[in-house]
Amino acid sequence: MANPRAIETTCIQGGWNPGNGQPRQLPIYQSTTFKYTSSEAMGKLFDLEAEGYFYTRLQNPTNDAVAAKICEMEGGAAAMLTSSGQAANFFAVINICSAGDHVVSSATIYGGTSNLLTVTLKRFGIDVTLVDPDASEEELEKAFQPNTKCVFAETIANPALVVLDIEKFARLAHGHGVPLIIDNTFATPINCRPIEWGADIVTHSTTKYMDGHGMTVGGCIVDSGNFDWNAYADKFPGLTTPDESYHGIIYTERFGKGAFITKATAQLMRDLGAIQSPQNAFLLNAGLESLHLRVPRHCENARKVAEFLQGRDDVAWVKYPGLPGDKYHALAEKYMPNGTCGVISFGLKGGRQAAAAFMDKLKVASIATHVADARTCVLHPASHTHRQLSDEQLIEAGVDPAMIRYSVGIENAEDLIKDIEQALA
Ligand SMILES: *Cc1c(COP(=O)(O)O)cnc(C)c1O
Repeated sequence: MANPRAIETTCIQGGWNPGNGQPRQLPIYQSTTFKYTSSEAMGKLFDLEAEGYFYTRLQNPTNDAVAAKICEMEGGAAAMLTSSGQAANFFAVINICSAGDHVVSSATIYGGTSNLLTVTLKRFGIDVTLVDPDASEEELEKAFQPNTKCVFAETIANPALVVLDIEKFARLAHGHGVPLIIDNTFATPINCRPIEWGADIVTHSTTKYMDGHGMTVGGCIVDSGNFDWNAYADKFPGLTTPDESYHGIIYTERFGKGAFITKATAQLMRDLGAIQSPQNAFLLNAGLESLHLRVPRHCENARKVAEFLQGRDDVAWVKYPGLPGDKYHALAEKYMPNGTCGVISFGLKGGRQAAAAFMDKLKVASIATHVADARTCVLHPASHTHRQLSDEQLIEAGVDPAMIRYSVGIENAEDLIKDIEQALA
């Protein structure tokens, strides 16, 4: 990019560029369909010969403006919004994986993504090998198979708070001729831009910090445009050979750096329809306008709360990669020197029972199946998000059965600490 602007400016001004006399705020194109004056013009859209809108199940201008903003924030080449983070990860994987293919994934990932990969995609004939993200490169090499089509991991794992060695994973993926897909939900591009460290595709649950206000479920896929699909054409026939459902166009030939996102829009959105509503995209955009202000505050508050918890006798352990002494502090310093995220996990000496009693006494923090919100919220993964996993599977996913996930909001940090203090008493 010739003159990249700072991310703070992109948060405010990215995506929607009004012309003379146009609305300053992003319009909500609350329309399922778009009008044309010639049958020919509409036909060209259907053939992907011209760019434009015809039906909101595939594309909508409000969504595209917000996707363009996130794309610029991540330093990508093309992006699309999806109805949820789940849909984003689902599409990112199946855009290049079919029955008979294989995925290498970090074991410490979000519970929903873990189910998606190990249960639902398995039913579709896509196999996954879960790996320990901290394992050596030699060890991780063993997970790859001739039919491996991508590597998947999270920048900061939810809820295990494992910080990924992105360069190590990028080297492994590229050494095997496959892209690295990174879910960057927790770090956000404010704290880490995985593409700069070698990731090829970045996904988000925009439901979390990007929305930030607990208003809209949404997702996003950003493609760096850097992966050379043609160099491994036999692995990715969906991108490098003719698509019969579009009169034989070849995505890499026709769309270059836009190939991955165009294919995901033209085929997956068309057939599966996990589009974000334009109304939600508008609300997400409002969230993005303050992301650069909120994220540093989340990190500052989280560090204060983590330090407080660390000093308590009734707290068995505290995990927060922003804390010096945390197992992932060095990786955090390297990949996200300005801060990690607002999520802390800790265990009480009283274990599972003490966790429930503590949570019931909190007054400022609310028990919610949510995380990365302006309001502080708290969850017990073993009895909530991860309750379908056995204790063994919990530990494999980096989740201690006693773990409390405490998502620090942007309230006053002293108020949060007082709240924890009275609940521990
Ligand atoms: C929440 C979350 C998801 C799923 O996103 P939804 O928007 O809830 O579908 C995926 N990945 C991570 C890291 C998450 O935190």
